[in-house]
Amino acid sequence: MSLTEKDRQYLWHPYTQHKTSQTPIAITKAEGALLWDENNKEYIDAIASWWVNPFGHSNKFIADAIYKQLTTLEHVLFGGFTHEPAVKTAERLMEILPKNQQKIFFSDNGSTAVEVAIKVALQYFFNKNEKRTTIIAFENAFHGDTFAAMAASGISFYTQAFQGMFIDVVRIPVPIKGQEQASFDALENAIKKHNCAGFIFEPLVQGAAGMVMYEPEALEKLIKICKENQVLTIADEVMTGFGKTGKTFAMDYVLEEPDMICLSKALTGGTIPMAITTFTQDIFNAFYDDDINKALFHGHTFTANPTGCAAVLASIDLLQTPKMQQNIERINASHLNFQKKIENHSKVITARTLGVIFAVEIKSESEESYYGSMRTKLYNFFIDKGVVLRPVGNIVYILPPYIMTDEQLHKVYTTIEEAIEMV
Ligand SMILES: *Cc1c(COP(=O)(O)O)cnc(C)c1O
Repeated sequence: MSLTEKDRQYLWHPYTQHKTSQTPIAITKAEGALLWDENNKEYIDAIASWWVNPFGHSNKFIADAIYKQLTTLEHVLFGGFTHEPAVKTAERLMEILPKNQQKIFFSDNGSTAVEVAIKVALQYFFNKNEKRTTIIAFENAFHGDTFAAMAASGISFYTQAFQGMFIDVVRIPVPIKGQEQASFDALENAIKKHNCAGFIFEPLVQGAAGMVMYEPEALEKLIKICKENQVLTIADEVMTGFGKTGKTFAMDYVLEEPDMICLSKALTGGTIPMAITTFTQDIFNAFYDDDINKALFHGHTFTANPTGCAAVLASIDLLQTPKMQQNIERINASHLNFQKKIENHSKVITARTLGVIFAVEIKSESEESYYGSMRTKLYNFFIDKGVVLRPVGNIVYILPPYIMTDEQLHKVYTTIEEAIEMV
């Protein structure tokens, strides 16, 4: 039996209807921005394997750091114990995070980072004997697939089986250009009508919604409204973190600081599953008490796994090299050129760029859904051409590893241009 035949027999894939889905591609090797399948066909990974891989696949620098850690201290429980990789990770993050972030909490993936933030927001007010149980979130948000993260996510066909079983969430419109006031008004209304504990948002770019972008000034205003009303703010930087937007964090564009930040995806350079939620001292203080019941009773078996921490430290080293910063600027300039080239095409509705993120909305005959026929047609076309891109409905986005060469980028662009002509 081939790999893919055995896969069909044993495996259940994410976001997949196995009855109608295509056979998965068996990847046997990866290096830099390239993947190779079992038939030695080459693919350009133009979405950094779901946004996790900024420094290229099979990165030797990170691999060496992981190996060294694996053969020194691979893991130790974090309840009652600590270790240097965890402490160093906290120190390094505090140097680069917004200044008000003072405490870090480890977990395993983006959803758990969000789950922790939402639980902390709710328990913060519980500990203060204040009844605040509602979370505010954007329409079409994506914050993950665990229960609280799912409740805060607005993509309804992901979550329709679970409606009615969620924590209380009120949704407000995203302040995209021209619609800022509606968003501000909705936030003020939500705070007036409900006992709001927190507001969670993807800063500046909503990834899973199709790289929907909005301005830092709008987010500043929303955070200000929250602060005036003692509503805790949670910046979900799981996708945007570590250079994707052109700055280390999307919140670096925003003058107001959030109360909590969620990190994962590129945190370990796309190597080891790990996540971090960060907090202000004020939040930590609300749990700091002689009363044990005020503690945060949340944890995961692999909390602060030293190997993961070693990968974080190596990744931050790589991100901070002048070479990597130049790569981010190079890709951004290249995206802006490509945007200029195609934005007036008759089949292009709109194109947008922030940092290394580029998205183009393609005109379609009929209204297409996320899993519509246009999406499948585009996806298959890209795969056939050896380019990994996963359109969201009629939106094609690029989020390349920062080390992608100009040549590889050029191939991604021309493939997208061909696709626009084809659909
Ligand atoms: C991917 C993502 C998550 C969920 O992360 P997982 O590791 O898939 O659980 C949460 N928030 C945002 C903004 C994401 O992009």
